[in-house]
Order: sequence, then structure tokens, then C-alpha cells
Amino acid sequence: MKKQTILHGAAYVLLVVGGVAVSTFLLSAAYDAGVRSGQPSAAVPVKAARSVSAVSSRASSAPKIPSSAVSAVQTAGQGIQEHDLVLVGPDHPLPSWYQPDLTEVSGVKMDKSVVQPFTAMRTDASANNISLWISSAYRDDALQSSLFEREVEEYTKTCPTYSDAVSAAEKSVAKPGCSEHATGLAVDLNGVEDNFDTTPASLWLQNHAQDYGFILRYPKDKQDITKIKYEPWHYRYVGVEAAKAMKQSGQCLEEYEASKTQSSR
Ligand SMILES: [Zn+2]
Repeated sequence: MKKQTILHGAAYVLLVVGGVAVSTFLLSAAYDAGVRSGQPSAAVPVKAARSVSAVSSRASSAPKIPSSAVSAVQTAGQGIQEHDLVLVGPDHPLPSWYQPDLTEVSGVKMDKSVVQPFTAMRTDASANNISLWISSAYRDDALQSSLFEREVEEYTKTCPTYSDAVSAAEKSVAKPGCSEHATGLAVDLNGVEDNFDTTPASLWLQNHAQDYGFILRYPKDKQDITKIKYEPWHYRYVGVEAAKAMKQSGQCLEEYEASKTQSSR
């Protein structure tokens, strides 16, 4: 069966069982589409938590960063051609020099460099009664396209023009070619829940992820720079050295790479 068929089925079941508002659910399903695997209990996304209103309110309430600071990091990372530091986002399409070295673990594909660090992190978390599991790792262009198209479709219901809908959609679902998930270095954890940052698992990650080379990629206070809304569930492998440096300095990846580029001049 095709993934989309499964998703449509899952969406129908959820709507009937949960009585969840249609628009809220479809957005959640679109975002999570096809990405829950390796978890027997997660075949149907029971907790569809995201909504358009949550997205827009969060984005507008974000602390503002001066536009000069934002423009200073616009070109960040373009000169850095290190596998683990590849910069991909709304302003940075997947560069041609980067090729993910994919392998499959527990039903999800990821870059080989992520497997050992993530396994170690999960094992240590588990020893502290913290359960970590991957909702989504590598996503190919076809899946990203369908997620993006669905997101745009949702926004056309509330946005005055199609281009407004596209702009709004870009903040929560990356355009094909601009998703960090195409690198195989990003993982969405524990069900992609808006309230993930209130859980012991999130707290544990905030304290320990850097020791395994992972960063919270889209922090709440960096939305103007990353151009992606706050995503407490999305972690990115960058290597231990970079992850610890970013944790210590409070920089996001764009800022870290900008400062790295500057200091090497
Ligand atoms: Zn993600």
C-alpha cells in the first residue's frame, strides 16, 4: 500500500474516533505524514497536536532579532563544506556537494554518521528512564513535496492569496530541496508534539543532546534567523565539538557557521 493511502486511512480513523477539528487534524497529519515508524504504537497518530493557529501565534510572539543581525547570517555556512555542518533551509537549498550516506535503522533512513551517536544517546536516556524514538529522519523530495503541498492547501483556506499561503506554509514545512531532513542528519523525536518541550524527555535532551553531537535546531528565540518556527522535537546532528560550542555560546547553526566563517578569514 502506498504511504499516502495509509495516511488517508489514518486521517479518517482519527477524525471519526477523536472528533478532532478537520483543519487541525489534516495539518498535523500532513506534517507527520509517513514519518512515524519504528514504533508499534505509533501507526496511527493519536495525538494530532499542531494547528494553524498555534503556528501563527507562536511565530508572532517570538522574540524579535534585529534585522541587521539576521542579514549578517544570511550567507552563513555557504563556505563551509563539512558533511556534519551542511546548512540547509529556506535560504539554503541542499548543496550539490552534499550526498547523504543513508542507512536504515528501525524502519527509518538516516545518514550513517547519525546512527552511533543517536543509539548511544537513546541508550543513555533509557538508563535514566527517558524514552526517545524517531518519528522521522531522512525524507526524500517526493515525500517533502506532498507534505508541502498539503500545508499550502491548508493555508489557502485562511490566507488571502496563494502566495501568502505558500509563504505561511514555508514556515512550518520546508519546501522540497530546502528541508534539513534531506540531509539524513535531522531527527524528529517522540511524535512531533507541540508540547514536547514540557516533557522529561525534552528536558533531558536540552541538558545532554550536545554530548552526543545533537542540537535543538529551531529554537524559539532564533526563528527570525532560522526562518523556521520553533520545533522542540527537531534535533540535528552536527558533531560533538560543534554541538557543545553552540550550546555554550547560545548560537543557532546559522550564527555558529557565520562566526566560524568570519574567524577563518
Ligand atoms: Zn523535523
